[in-house]
Amino acid sequence: MPATTEFDTIAAISTPPGEGAISIVRISGEDSLKVIGRIFRGNDLSKVPSHTINYGHIKDPKTNKNVDEVMVSVMRAPKTYTCEDIIEINCHGGIVATNKILSLVLANGARMAEPGEFTKRAFLNGRVDLTEAESVMDIIRSKTDRAMEVAEGQLGGNLHKLIKDLRQDILEALAQVEVNIDYPEYDEEQVTADMMRDKATSVKKEIQKLLKTAQQGKVLRNGLATAIVGRPNVGKSSILNHLLQEDKAIVTDVAGTTRDVLEEYVNVGGVPLKLVDTAGIHDTDDKVEKIGVERSRQAIHKADLILLVLDASQPLTAEDKELLTATENKHRLILFNKSDLPAALTISDLPDVAASDVIKVSGLTGAGMEDLAAKIEGLFNQGIENSQNDVMVTNARQIGLLESADQSLTDVLNGLDQEMPLDLVQIDMTECWNKLGEITGDAAPDELITQLFSQFCLGK
Ligand code: GDP
Ligand code: ZN
Repeated sequence: MPATTEFDTIAAISTPPGEGAISIVRISGEDSLKVIGRIFRGNDLSKVPSHTINYGHIKDPKTNKNVDEVMVSVMRAPKTYTCEDIIEINCHGGIVATNKILSLVLANGARMAEPGEFTKRAFLNGRVDLTEAESVMDIIRSKTDRAMEVAEGQLGGNLHKLIKDLRQDILEALAQVEVNIDYPEYDEEQVTADMMRDKATSVKKEIQKLLKTAQQGKVLRNGLATAIVGRPNVGKSSILNHLLQEDKAIVTDVAGTTRDVLEEYVNVGGVPLKLVDTAGIHDTDDKVEKIGVERSRQAIHKADLILLVLDASQPLTAEDKELLTATENKHRLILFNKSDLPAALTISDLPDVAASDVIKVSGLTGAGMEDLAAKIEGLFNQGIENSQNDVMVTNARQIGLLESADQSLTDVLNGLDQEMPLDLVQIDMTECWNKLGEITGDAAPDELITQLFSQFCLGK
């Protein structure tokens, strides 16, 4: 990575918009201290030690009036988030004061930062790689503690380190081919081919392990689309309310991130469920809900997991049977609700359903909700050998690159099987090396980097 590049000085509000207790205006770049010097009343910040917090006031240099009482953090390059001089003005929350301070900062030598520009500088200055930068975004958006853990692991460089090791392996194999090509008389063709095969096989294995985690990563990132379906009055709303009440940390929208659609999430057993079409469930008296089955079909179609609610105090109705059929081929849990009442329904009434997919619950008493959470967690964990090193692939960009790296290795192995010349096999091996490099940003094209950081929110 190059040494710190010189950039202009940027600023943004880096706390979520709204009435927080405090807001932070962040400035980064070589003029940071000059900018703050023009608008700060207190100690001379150009003389204070690095990484100190300083009390004072922000003044408007034109009127010389105080605007707000503040604490200003001074962090000098290079040991900062961006590797540049950073000033953080902690001011009283509130949109008016914060915006006023930002506009003074902008009028006194800083430029408004683009979304993600602070993190982009951290990347360009070599402090983080792309997987780590992406994890900053994931942390901002994470919906459960577990998703946060995975993102923090990435920020700690887990994925970065693994990919670097894999690239090193490939590089060794490539170097071997070079030797072979340079000294063809030094007859090592077979040795080299064997080494290529070994490396390609072991790297492929690691890549496939990572790809296996991708499904779980996607769920942690985006939530598992879940529909609660059932005919009217079986207890959908009651069950939903229990799920919502037990989860104090429902994330409808993380402040400061930009989501166009407010989605409803509920954390069940550590798995973020993205609830599909709860509108009909929320307002029980809504006539729309009475359309029942037809509406359910749409929700079923959109969902990855179905919670099919039956009223276990009554025999199955034709509508129940229709819904059972409609959800047959989906990931499905069947909730025997109203289990507090005498049962009129047993598992033997559902010949095509595995007993392990049925959970007795009560929307009235809350009974069975823990079993439900455990089941959902179990579904989520199914088929993952939980990797000890906590490396998990979480985003589409990384998944796509891993898939093409994997494909290149398939080509390498096929080439070796067909005894193709090694310098041709080398091309596919190099391609794999490049794809892995794009994941970490060591071989990423400029426009990709620009596009990637533009997805960040302002102030990060
Ligand atoms: P939905 O139409 O499927 O959303 O059903 P609701 O949640 O609105 O419930 C319909 C009726 O069943 C309401 O009177 C609830 O109080 C009642 N109910 C829901 N769950 C239970 C339960 O587990 N046990 C009993 N006894 N009543 C329930
Ligand atoms: Zn309802």
